[in-house]
Amino acid sequence: MSTCDHCEAELPEDGTSRRLCQRCKDQTTGRLEQLPRLHAELSEYLEPTVRPAGSGGHTRAAEGAMPCREDVLLLAAPGGVVRVLENWRAELGGYRPRVDAEPWGTLSGRVKRAAGALASEMEWIAAEWDEAGALARDIRSLVQRVEAITSPTPRSYRLGHCISLGGNGELCGAILRTTGDSPVVACPWCDTVWPSDTWLTLAAAGRGAA
Ligand SMILES: [Zn+2]
Ligand SMILES: [Zn+2]
Repeated sequence: MSTCDHCEAELPEDGTSRRLCQRCKDQTTGRLEQLPRLHAELSEYLEPTVRPAGSGGHTRAAEGAMPCREDVLLLAAPGGVVRVLENWRAELGGYRPRVDAEPWGTLSGRVKRAAGALASEMEWIAAEWDEAGALARDIRSLVQRVEAITSPTPRSYRLGHCISLGGNGELCGAILRTTGDSPVVACPWCDTVWPSDTWLTLAAAGRGAA
């Protein structure tokens, strides 16, 4: 029996997908398709928030016009989202030459092309590539980092600590939070999915440990 490199779900026996399960493949594809829009939203945070009345257009960011958040800069800049995507694209290009290309154009164009190239190969990646799990994790954390800025998490409450155990018996221990809008919570550290009927157990385990 083989399992998904990302979430460890069992993979179908027919050998169609040897690296990622259907769900992780679809989610990774979806995230790649979202990234150009998310990157554009991120870039808006770098523009001045106050525009002179009646100027009718963009103004240059004057010194001191707005404090730029460092995390926004890091993600929106050439070393951020675009670098992560282009590194993966270059890596993939070693196996799938048709997606290989030198970066060109604007940052938003580069994000779009690199994300598109990766998304177009997700079938092969999920079936064959031994880097599939690492790619899925990277893309997921990239989206989370951008969304933490563009759509800060709504009010959430703490459920307890994640009680899943690694192969060596090590406790995960991540803090699990819910906003109440979903019946499941995915652990940010180990990806274990905790449905609502386990939440009491998680809370009780937390009290026991305290
Ligand atoms: Zn999976
Ligand atoms: Zn966990």
